[in-house]
Amino acid sequence: MTEKFYFHTSLVDRAHHFRGDEKWLAEQITKETSHLVPVWRDHNLIHIDDLPRAVMLPHTDSARLREAASVIVFLGAANGQYYFAADVSDLEETDREDLLPGQGGFEDLRGLAGTMDPTEAGLLAYARALMYWHRNHLYCSKCGSPADSGKGGHERHCTNPDCGRTTFPRTDPAVIMLVSRGEGENETALLGRNIRFQGRGLRYSTLAGFVEPGESLEDAVIREVKEEADIDVTDVRYQGSQPWPFPASLMLGYRARATSEAIKIQEDELMDAQWFTKAQVREMAEEGGILPPSGLSISRWLIDAWLNGESSY
Ligand SMILES: [Zn+2]
Repeated sequence: MTEKFYFHTSLVDRAHHFRGDEKWLAEQITKETSHLVPVWRDHNLIHIDDLPRAVMLPHTDSARLREAASVIVFLGAANGQYYFAADVSDLEETDREDLLPGQGGFEDLRGLAGTMDPTEAGLLAYARALMYWHRNHLYCSKCGSPADSGKGGHERHCTNPDCGRTTFPRTDPAVIMLVSRGEGENETALLGRNIRFQGRGLRYSTLAGFVEPGESLEDAVIREVKEEADIDVTDVRYQGSQPWPFPASLMLGYRARATSEAIKIQEDELMDAQWFTKAQVREMAEEGGILPPSGLSISRWLIDAWLNGESSY
């Protein structure tokens, strides 16, 4: 099977049964079986040596960071060890370095994940996504009063007793699809060059877009391909999903078959879109830098699975 992508696996079992036990959580975080994963303004603490490694601070090194944290979240458990994330975004850069001498730096996970242990990258992605949600939901969306973290950091509760609204972490679903037409060696795939890829070379990728309220995933695939390339598709089939916490997406991967051929691109989304044969896509893969990086994104996984003749068709 084609190499899987990143962020589909994490170091921890989420152990959700501990989330409601505030007393246990408060005690656990001070014990030697606890580890703290700090997040600073959407950046994760990563030690870069030969390979990047997630820094998970033992309880003896985390006391001052815990004091400085605006929110602490219980991430889960693995092998009798317990993992917490702390949002330390309020720290200035100079304070941050005082608290973490020699512990690596706060880095953008997106650029490093592909060279990390996948379970560590998954844990950091999970921590980053939750902290992004907390920092962007400080106030109740219904009445505007301050909201507090609850359930081990997996809920926020409005502090206004007349309101009391509970909110849950948001994930925005997006569909990503490999559209093909024809059979055998004549089979081609629709790949586009997004305007957001400008400056990152001639990168071609599968089409993608956010799911709208009241829309099924299959209808979102059909609508996005029509909007972006004016291609009609049918036979929409689910292939796999990838959390993409940059900042809060879940990518739902599909294959679909085209029933039309003439491409007309949506110019505020795509710079170009074309039908490519397998031979052409293999050449692009060999050249490097033209397709999304191997092993990181579901986009490349969908492309590689198509090249290798693997799919639910
Ligand atoms: Zn409220």
